[in-house]
Amino acid sequence: MDTGLLVGLLNPTIALALGAVFLVLWFYQRHRPYLAVLAASYWLSAAGFLLQHFTLPIGMAPTKLISNICFTIAACGLAGAIVTRYGRRVPFAAIGVLASGGLTAFCWFMFIQPDLTWRILVMNFAFGGLSLVVAAELRVVRDKGPTEMILFVLSLLSGLNFFVRTLVIVIAHGPYQSYDGFYASSYWTTALLSHALLSLLIALCLFCAAALDVMKVLKAEAYTDPLSGLLNRRGFEERATLLLQHCATAKLPVSLVLADLDHFKALNDLHGHAAGDRVIADFAAKLRSAAGTSGVAGRIGGEEFAVLLPLSDLGAARLFAEAIRTLYSAGSVDGLPHGTRATASFGVAARTGEEGLEPLMRRADEALYKAKRNGRDSVRLSYDQSACEPSETVSVVEPLKAG
Ligand code: GH3
Ligand code: MG
Ligand code: MG
Repeated sequence: MDTGLLVGLLNPTIALALGAVFLVLWFYQRHRPYLAVLAASYWLSAAGFLLQHFTLPIGMAPTKLISNICFTIAACGLAGAIVTRYGRRVPFAAIGVLASGGLTAFCWFMFIQPDLTWRILVMNFAFGGLSLVVAAELRVVRDKGPTEMILFVLSLLSGLNFFVRTLVIVIAHGPYQSYDGFYASSYWTTALLSHALLSLLIALCLFCAAALDVMKVLKAEAYTDPLSGLLNRRGFEERATLLLQHCATAKLPVSLVLADLDHFKALNDLHGHAAGDRVIADFAAKLRSAAGTSGVAGRIGGEEFAVLLPLSDLGAARLFAEAIRTLYSAGSVDGLPHGTRATASFGVAARTGEEGLEPLMRRADEALYKAKRNGRDSVRLSYDQSACEPSETVSVVEPLKAG
């Protein structure tokens, strides 16, 4: 087997393997069709490379055309898949113009006015243009993460590779008259090697992006309570800690509201565990819509909930808790017979100074405990006196009449 053929088989082998890996990834993530498009694109590029070396019985010119059609569809698929993965709209018009323009010019210089050098130039310019279209789309998202930035740089490099390398080599070693000796030329050797390197790097980056997508989903699942749809305790603690840090840096007030459903055990005993579950989900839904997108809401225990409210001092958080308490105790509860009343108790604490999540939770919990001891269905506040008496931190719970 000659060395030219061995080098020639490098790209199809890499492309077939990468296509297979993307197909496996898509098999496990059917909701991400861009992975299937990547698999098809890599396989089409493998077919394109193979058809450069093995001529079909239909003749040399039609085989070259099919090969270039494969390359073009593969490049369009790759461009579309990358742009889709990064949440951008696929620029169909630009991709369509470049692809059809490249192939039309190829046909012209193959069948009307045969010229190998021009065929090389027009196809490379079309692929270079496609790479730059991807780079232009990724430019907007390049600061979002490392894979965005790396793929942006790789798209630029790929564009430069198609334009600059082709021009330099064609000017230095061209023009090319026929395919005799073409596959041993510096043009074809550099094209093969640069393509192998760039397609490997792009694929590695896309694998990394796909792995990050999976990790994001797993993390979201690990941090979500399936019954209520709210964050679970672990998720709440992580998100709340981040929010506390953000509020400390921005010097914004932040308050914590703890809520616990009243007499829930009795409610479970009376109406059944399934009804109890629906009550938890119902309360969680009310809490989530009240917290909105800025607050961090979580189910931190069986029938215990927490909401961290940014931009809220003690008064604002108290109003928030009172609003939910009133709404909840007055309305009907999904999961319970009509007219059955369910209530919840609340403890509220505003963060003082650089107070961390743990002491803030402890103070809100003390306030909640007082609300339970004082008849439930009420809101109690915790005042931290550390600001006026730095040597000692005392939580004073203000008694508030419910209703
Ligand atoms: P209090 O007013 O003092 O809070 O009384 P309580 O009965 O609500 O509190 P207690 O801590 O005595 O009981 C909580 C009950 O919540 C006990 C447990 O069976 C129930 N529970 C915990 N998790 C779930 C759950 O996921 N689903 C259901 N249906 N019940 C749960
Ligand atoms: Mg309870
Ligand atoms: Mg409880």
